[in-house]
Amino acid sequence: MTAEDRTVEDGTQDGARSKTTAALRGLMGQCPACGRGRLLRNYLKPVDHCAHCGEAFGHLRADDAPPWMTILIVGHIIIPAVLSVEQRYEPATWVHLTIWPLLTLLLTGLLLPRCKGVVLGLLWSTGAPGSERA
Ligand SMILES: [Zn+2]
Repeated sequence: MTAEDRTVEDGTQDGARSKTTAALRGLMGQCPACGRGRLLRNYLKPVDHCAHCGEAFGHLRADDAPPWMTILIVGHIIIPAVLSVEQRYEPATWVHLTIWPLLTLLLTGLLLPRCKGVVLGLLWSTGAPGSERA
């Protein structure tokens, strides 16, 4: 049997955990192991076990990484947009105070669970034991 024959469903060999695949599946909110079950419930809470393959995720702790990642991304989108709009259109202050906080909250709400999925997928792919494994 060659190494290519042993390639499993996610493109890894011998069941090795691909960081890229795990991160992408986490980004989509899917189980990093099988890509079919859900990774998060109630917005940000990881499921204890994948409903499809049974892989355990409840012990993984992402801690502050997802909020930091979200702040980094949202800040790099919002701040240049604020400066660009101000330079081009010079809108009234109330326009800035209306648009940017709402856009920031919207982007944060959309990106935070995706960032958490990426972090959990990467943690899972590295075989990190988590802080609460028995
Ligand atoms: Zn699964």
